[in-house]
Amino acid sequence: MQKRVLITGAAGFLGSHLCDRFIKEGMRVVAMDNLITGDLKNIEHLFKLEQFEFYHHDVSKFIHVPGEIDYIMHFASPASPIDYLKIPIQTLKVSSLGTHNVLGLARVKKARVLVASTSEVYGDPHVHPQPEEYWGHVNTVGPRGCYDEAKRFMEAITMAYHNVHNIETRIVRIFNTYGPRMRLNDGRVLPAFIGQALRGEDLTMFGDGSQTRSFCYVDDLVEGIYRLLMSDYHLPVNVGNPSEISIKDFAAEILKLTGSTQKLISLPLPKDDPKQRQPDITKAKAILGWEPKVQRAEGLKITYEYFKSLPREELSKTEHRQFSK
Ligand code: UDP
Repeated sequence: MQKRVLITGAAGFLGSHLCDRFIKEGMRVVAMDNLITGDLKNIEHLFKLEQFEFYHHDVSKFIHVPGEIDYIMHFASPASPIDYLKIPIQTLKVSSLGTHNVLGLARVKKARVLVASTSEVYGDPHVHPQPEEYWGHVNTVGPRGCYDEAKRFMEAITMAYHNVHNIETRIVRIFNTYGPRMRLNDGRVLPAFIGQALRGEDLTMFGDGSQTRSFCYVDDLVEGIYRLLMSDYHLPVNVGNPSEISIKDFAAEILKLTGSTQKLISLPLPKDDPKQRQPDITKAKAILGWEPKVQRAEGLKITYEYFKSLPREELSKTEHRQFSK
C-alpha cells in the first residue's frame, strides 16, 4: 500500500526538498503551506503529479485532511532571523499552536510525526560542539526568543504526546543548511553574501566575523531527516555538517567562488547572535548511520549556479537585516 505523508511548510526551502524526496520514494504527498514565507515556485513542478496535492492552509488553525496519513513532517515556520523579527507572533504560533494541531492530527490518523527543531534550542551555546544532552542558553525576551522558545515548546509538547498518547514521534535539530531554493532575500548569510557579490555590492559582515557556523548541504540534511523518520528513535537528534567556519573566512570563500572583487564591510553584530555553532553528530552517526557527504566547495558551487540562474528582478529584491534593540 502506497504511504501518504503530510508535509507542512511544503513550499519552503526544506519543505520543498522533502516533497521531492518523498515523491521519489513513491509516496503520496499532501503539501500544506500558508505561503507567508514559502513560495509556490519551489513546488510548482510537482502539481502535475497525480500523487501530489496542495492545501493552502495555516497550520496554526485546526487542520483537516481527509483520508489516511502515515507520516507527518512538521516544517512550517519562518526560519531566518529577518523573518522572525518581522513576524514574531506567527513564528510563535506555528511552532506552538501549529505543533499542537499537528500532534492532534497524528493521534487521530495514527501517523508518525517528525518535527523540525533547530540548533537555536541551544541559544548562544556555552558547550561546544553542541551535543543533544546540552540544555542550551537562550534569552527568552531577546529578538530570537520567539523562534527559540517556540521550538523548545515544540519539543516539549511532542515529548508529552509521545508519553501520554503513545504516538510515534521524531525530533530533528537542524543546523544551518543551504542549497538551491533558499530565498535570495531571506537575510541569511549565504544568500546575503552571494546576492551582494552578484549585484556588485560589498559584503556585509556583522561584527568582526569571528563568530562561527557549520553549513550543511540540503541533500545531506534531507537524507539524515529521512533516516530519522524511518528509525525507531524518539529523542532529539542533531543533523548538520560539523565542518565549522568563521563568517569572515566564509565571506572570503564566497568572494573567491563568485570571482568578486568587492570588499568586506563590517556592520554591528545583531543582538544575541550566537558566537559559535557546530553540531556534535555522534548520535546521528550511531543511530542513523548518517554523516554529511557534500563538501562545502561543491555545495556552494551548486547553490551559486542556482542563484545565478534566477531572473534578474529576483536579484534586485533585497532586504537588509534590521537591528533590534
Ligand atoms: N551574517 C553576516 N552578514 C549578513 C548576514 C548574516 O555577517 O549579511 C552573520 C550573522 O551575524 C551570523 C551568521 O552570519 O553570525 C549567520 O547568520 P544567519 O542569519 O545566516 O543565521 P543564524 O545562524 O545566525 O541563525
